[in-house]
Amino acid sequence: MNPLEGLLDLQSHDTRIAQLEHRHAQLPERAALRRLERELAKRDEQIADAEQHHAELARLQRRYDDDLSSVLAKRERERGLLYSGQVTAIRELQSLEEEVAALGRRQRVVEDKLLEVMEELESAGAALAELRTGRDELALRIDAISDRLTAAAAEIDEECERVRSDRAAVAGQIAAELLELYELLRTQIDGVAVARLEGTSCLGCNLTLPLMEVDRLRRLPDIGEAPAGGIDKGSATCPSCGRILVL
Ligand SMILES: [Zn+2]
Repeated sequence: MNPLEGLLDLQSHDTRIAQLEHRHAQLPERAALRRLERELAKRDEQIADAEQHHAELARLQRRYDDDLSSVLAKRERERGLLYSGQVTAIRELQSLEEEVAALGRRQRVVEDKLLEVMEELESAGAALAELRTGRDELALRIDAISDRLTAAAAEIDEECERVRSDRAAVAGQIAAELLELYELLRTQIDGVAVARLEGTSCLGCNLTLPLMEVDRLRRLPDIGEAPAGGIDKGSATCPSCGRILVL
């Protein structure tokens, strides 16, 4: 095979590998996953806030419960004393009656507060449950998209592996010195080291070469069959982009 045609073949493999790597890096699942993970982190923060709010309300409820118990117990004690017959002095009885009435008022105030906090607690609980459900759904979506990403990436990896192995076979047919020049040029010219000359146009950079230059290139001895060492790096390359030209 014409060694320069081999280079074109090699180049097409390298271009394919670069395309596959680009596709691998740009898989839409990656961006979707990043977006969902940000959403999940935000959701976790909201859940932590909601849990804290819920815990505060639960503490408040316990406090009102305790308050109510102690008010009820005290009121029961005072009432017992009031009707026990042990207290007979009118003034003392009056003061006990007032105390029982005051405790009754206190009881209603605490009961109202308790009811209010219980309602708040219920809606805080519902809000928390909704946030947690949303988080579970988000986690499921993340799992699903992760699986899709893994599968898509594996498919590309597999194809890339095949192309690399084909490329190794092609590279094995090319003389070491020519291969070295190719690799060097590839790092210098956007990953594409070799281009076909079609008519008078370099297909690497689309420049139309002067006819005299094309004529000179055509007349280079053994341009197609030249062994690596026989290639004149200066003259077998496009004067504009520097790529190795295949006539
Ligand atoms: Zn060119």
